[in-house]
Amino acid sequence: MWRILCGIVVLAAIVNPLAETRGVRRRRAVKLQLDNYLSYDGIMEYLDQLARSYSSRVTLKNVGRTYEKRVLKVAMITNGDGRPGKRVIFLDAALHSREWMTPAAALLTIHKLVVEFEENSDLLADFDWHIMPLANPDGYVYSRNTDRYWRNTRTPNGGNCFGTNLNRNFAVDWKVGFSQLEDPCDENYAGSAPFSEVEARTVRDIMHILVDSQRAVMYLSLHTANRSVFYPWVYNTAPVSNQKEHDEIGRFVADRIRQSTGTFIKTWQYAKFDGTFGGTSMDYALLAGFPLSFVFEMSGVGQDQVEYKFFPPARDIRHLAEESWTGIRAFAEKAIEKYPPSRVIAYKQMVEPPNNAASRIRGFSSLVCILFIYLTNVFGSNSL
Ligand SMILES: [Zn+2]
Repeated sequence: MWRILCGIVVLAAIVNPLAETRGVRRRRAVKLQLDNYLSYDGIMEYLDQLARSYSSRVTLKNVGRTYEKRVLKVAMITNGDGRPGKRVIFLDAALHSREWMTPAAALLTIHKLVVEFEENSDLLADFDWHIMPLANPDGYVYSRNTDRYWRNTRTPNGGNCFGTNLNRNFAVDWKVGFSQLEDPCDENYAGSAPFSEVEARTVRDIMHILVDSQRAVMYLSLHTANRSVFYPWVYNTAPVSNQKEHDEIGRFVADRIRQSTGTFIKTWQYAKFDGTFGGTSMDYALLAGFPLSFVFEMSGVGQDQVEYKFFPPARDIRHLAEESWTGIRAFAEKAIEKYPPSRVIAYKQMVEPPNNAASRIRGFSSLVCILFIYLTNVFGSNSL
């Protein structure tokens, strides 16, 4: 008996350092490249590598295929303790394809949670993360290769017009707000129907799965480059029921970033900032049952203080991604603090998306439209 036990101890002593060595080798192999903007293939390759090397903590799921047949992937990240049913932070990036910094920040977030797990394990103790680093790959490839300002999907709309703005395609006051939402040649085109785009349907389905399984806590959608934290509503100027909570979290994030890099981030209920319109994923998430929903408009200002907006030079990618991670970490810390497992979340049935109210609101929104255009001119924004 003792001989067997001793044998096991000796074996473990031999095997364990080997496992450690393998671990170190694995870590060296999975390097996140932030010296240049990654291609679609580069992003997919990084995710595949990571899932292979950290299979106990990362599961990749193919959740859909785009119009041009590219795979939509979600990285589901845990701390590997095997406890099912944890609450979830759902993060997506690049709904708008020209916002090149957002996949970089999403990938850095994945990297921090997986490769730099020890430093960030507090964010995974009671929460899992589901991250979709490239929500609009067709648009991203087109933006990288053909027309860098391309914002939409690549679905044909008839004639010579292509693409739908995914952040106008969700079933919340769809097509309500301003005239360009109905123009199939405009970058604000809301699509041929609510959820006409597979990318929007995919994000919607993830939201509903998380709410139905009572795991949904925070939806965080990355955009650039307004240097803002936005919270709902966009379609309505009424306050959300937990407005104070949203506002507090937004200010916490802004403070953390300012202390870290000096960048000034504003916190707004979107409708108060830039007028009302329909179709956004952020509004839909809250209506679907997420208690918290945000857009984080990351900075596009380089270290030379130049406003590069969507396309900061390659030398600034790492710095801006790290700054965004500082913000994303702050979002998560506060969400976890506000929604510990001990706090019961009353998940309701989905509030009927207010599309039926469209005609009622349309008259009002044409007035708002004037204000919207005015504010857009003043702030030069509307990148949500
Ligand atoms: Zn955007």
